[in-house]
Amino acid sequence: MEVTENCSVKVAVHIRPLIADERTQGCTECVTVTKGKPQVQIGTHSFTFDHVYGHGASPSSSMFEECVAPLVDGLFQGYNATVLAYGQTGSGKTYTMGTAIKDGSETGLIPQVMNALFKKIETLKHQTEFQLHVSFIEILKEEVRDLLDSEPVSKPVTPNGNAAKVTVPGRPPIQIRESSSGVITLAGSTEVAVSTLQEMATCLEQGSINRATGSTNMNNQSSRSHAIFTITLEQMHKIQSVSAVNDTSDEDMGEEYLCAKLHLVDLAGSERAKRTGSDGLRLKEGIHINRGLLALGNVISALGDEKKRKEGVHVPYRDSKLTRLLQDSLGGNSKTVMIACVSPADINAEESLNTLKYANRARNIQNKPVVNRDLVSNEMQKMRQQLQYLQAELCARGGPTSDIQTLKERITWLEATNEDLRRELHEYRSLRAVAECCETGAQESRSCFVKIDGHKRAIQSMDLPDYQMDEVLSDDNPGEIDEVDKELEHALRRNNMDRELNELNKRLEQKESEMKLVGGTDTEALKQHFQKKITELEEEKRIVQQERDRLLAAVENRAANSDSQIQKAQEINVQKLKALEAQISDLKKKQENQVELLKQKQRSDEAAKRLQAEIQYIKAQKVQLQHKIKQEAEQFRQWKAYREKELLQLKKEGRRNEYERHKLEALNQRQKQVLQRKTEEAAMATKRLKELLEARKYSIRDNSGKFTL
Ligand code: ADP
Ligand code: MG
Repeated sequence: MEVTENCSVKVAVHIRPLIADERTQGCTECVTVTKGKPQVQIGTHSFTFDHVYGHGASPSSSMFEECVAPLVDGLFQGYNATVLAYGQTGSGKTYTMGTAIKDGSETGLIPQVMNALFKKIETLKHQTEFQLHVSFIEILKEEVRDLLDSEPVSKPVTPNGNAAKVTVPGRPPIQIRESSSGVITLAGSTEVAVSTLQEMATCLEQGSINRATGSTNMNNQSSRSHAIFTITLEQMHKIQSVSAVNDTSDEDMGEEYLCAKLHLVDLAGSERAKRTGSDGLRLKEGIHINRGLLALGNVISALGDEKKRKEGVHVPYRDSKLTRLLQDSLGGNSKTVMIACVSPADINAEESLNTLKYANRARNIQNKPVVNRDLVSNEMQKMRQQLQYLQAELCARGGPTSDIQTLKERITWLEATNEDLRRELHEYRSLRAVAECCETGAQESRSCFVKIDGHKRAIQSMDLPDYQMDEVLSDDNPGEIDEVDKELEHALRRNNMDRELNELNKRLEQKESEMKLVGGTDTEALKQHFQKKITELEEEKRIVQQERDRLLAAVENRAANSDSQIQKAQEINVQKLKALEAQISDLKKKQENQVELLKQKQRSDEAAKRLQAEIQYIKAQKVQLQHKIKQEAEQFRQWKAYREKELLQLKKEGRRNEYERHKLEALNQRQKQVLQRKTEEAAMATKRLKELLEARKYSIRDNSGKFTL
């Protein structure tokens, strides 16, 4: 549930005039009102309230509009409300509330509430479904009595004159219950569903009668009872879109369920509370005291004292049924108005002062009204708030322009993605082309894959059977990619230009056919034909007009002679004249038609001219494009020739290198062989030398032996 701002209990004072009884007793007025201020003086005390009515202050008639009508409006927004009439017996509570059948039945607040409620329902019923229930109970001696219970209840009287506890057979006593969410409800009380003002008024009346009967039977105990008339308003209304950006949409955003209660309380006379409550004589006093009012005094005292509130003093709601029932109205979920009813008579001065003191304290009570929605409606409300917040944020950020910005960003992103994809596609196409190239054979593959190896640019034939795709993509053969790319690019450009050319041809054809339609016929001949026709018509017209003039003259001449034969001829002439005039007008029409046709012709001539210009333009474009295609082809051819030449040169260079290598290898081989032979020869020579040396050694040894002998 959403928590609204705290709102304090509003307090109004209603000062009734002196009643007959008081006058006969010779009472004087002891209450005064400060002019133009909601301020009341009694003796030396002065109190300021939210409103003061009667006794020279605002008229009582404006009480409803100022104090209660906002609560009725709040009901429709889902806020609980309470109106409490407080004051001593005879101070005018029942009169103010309009709870009684006779007094205040029209001026009282309850009848006015009912009127306002049904008026508002009438204006809203086309968009909202309403359900109204009323209950009317009385709390007397801590017993809750149902004033709307239709079953006749016998009210036995005890010997001391008080009513015995009323129990209706088969019907459990009314109990006050608190739901898990802290909502106080009355279990077992009659809730009458009402749909018209009359039905509701009947309930009020019925309850009032029951209360009155009760009080007669019980020795007028109405001054000790609290009467609570409760109106429950349930609403189910459709929520429409609250789009801040686009107000035109009538989007259905679901239903909202609201339920709010209005308690209209006519409290028991407060005089007992004072006498027994504040001075703590309650227990010592043998008489019955009103626990409800005592507890109410304590609750108001606990809630109305800021110091106590800050200290977190316990609020004794549970001390009585009244305070338990009004738990929400005082410091809880309700917008509350307390009306302190005061008698101006001096004999009631003490009670009046007491009432004003309580009322003044009640002003400090802070309530926390909330909109009473069901869980689903609550969740929806949260989401709607979020939506509103987001929309507001959107507006703050520049509304639709930020939308455009987002879209622009998205377009940029999409374009970038598109570019990437195109590149990828291009790469794949290159790969495919390469693969196709590979398949076409060694000759072509050689021209496709040229490996440039540093400065030497040695050519390696690329007829590789185990050719790998990624090898082509690798960085160490950029020449191949370049070549393939260039060819593909050329093919692509060529393709595009061809397509463009085709399109131009198509447009040209279309324009030419249009031209045929517009200017298919020989315009000059047609023009001459029409001109001739017009002249002919004019000539014919002139002749006919002459004929007519001649006839007119003849008619006039003959008119002078009044011979009957002449008259006959004259009639014939008149008819002829008429026929001629008809012919003339017909000719005129024809002439106009011809002129119109001529104009149309001119228009179509202009259109034809425009078309001709367009055709010329397209033709020029076509020529340009053809020229471009030619240029492109020429450039490509040159590039290709250059590449081929380069390729041939590289091949030649490669072959030369190969030859050189072979030559060097052969030389090397030869040198190796020579070296080997030389080594072998050297080895042989060493061997022989060794052998010779050995032989010499032996011969010397032999010779020396001979000498020593
Ligand atoms: P309570 O309900 O507080 O006991 P009542 O409403 O019964 O008091 O009023 C006591 C008497 O005073 C009734 O006769 C009533 O007609 C009269 N009375 C109360 N308020 C006014 C008023 N504002 N103007 C005229 N008479 C009033
Ligand atoms: Mg009363």
